[in-house]
Amino acid sequence: MTETLYLPDNEYEKTFDAEVRQSEGRYVVLDRTLFYKEGGGQPADKGTLKWENGRPKVTDVQKEHGQIRHYVERAPSEGTNVRGEIDWERRYSHMRMHTAQHVISKVALDLYGAETEGNQIHADRSRIDFGMKLTDQKVRELEQRTNEIIDKDLKVEKSQMERGTAEDETPEGRGLFNLIPDSVDPLRMVRIEGFDLCPCGGTHVDATGELKGLDIVGTENKGSEVDRIEFKLD
Ligand SMILES: [Zn+2]
Repeated sequence: MTETLYLPDNEYEKTFDAEVRQSEGRYVVLDRTLFYKEGGGQPADKGTLKWENGRPKVTDVQKEHGQIRHYVERAPSEGTNVRGEIDWERRYSHMRMHTAQHVISKVALDLYGAETEGNQIHADRSRIDFGMKLTDQKVRELEQRTNEIIDKDLKVEKSQMERGTAEDETPEGRGLFNLIPDSVDPLRMVRIEGFDLCPCGGTHVDATGELKGLDIVGTENKGSEVDRIEFKLD
């Protein structure tokens, strides 16, 4: 098992040292990593692996067959000590976007009782599907309320929480616990001070002020009971 160094709350580290445990030509498995593997609507980190004789780019990171696989242009051999560096600009954009997604999702739940059906984060533009139909007024309210939460600069705390406690404390509609296998305990939880709590394995910023400001730049009809928003951050 690869130790995931960014969990539960070490998301601002950019470099790490690790040893190659398995080398398969196109990918390597490390004993520890800071690279985020694609999942939960957040893309994989990119970056580089460095050692004495090479410095290939990490082009993708995926969890496959229970392993975290770092896809590289050229793989170091088993036992090599490497220094990993993540593409920080890209990662930080994902951290801001992912945190923004939590804020809007909770705002939609608070204002309209609408749950989030899906989301996809990108560095420049992200989207969320809500289980409700939108109007121009609702879009304006979502944007306004989200920006109020951003302006409050609320602390974002990430921690491991025992599953029973997590299920008790998470607001109704903010955790699809039936989709998380029972074996996952404790759970990685993301709390926005006095506002939100939900289970999430993604990367997030430490305070909502880092989001600066949010614009909803588009909407799309995704069915009789689902509408999509697209948003950007300042
Ligand atoms: Zn998250």
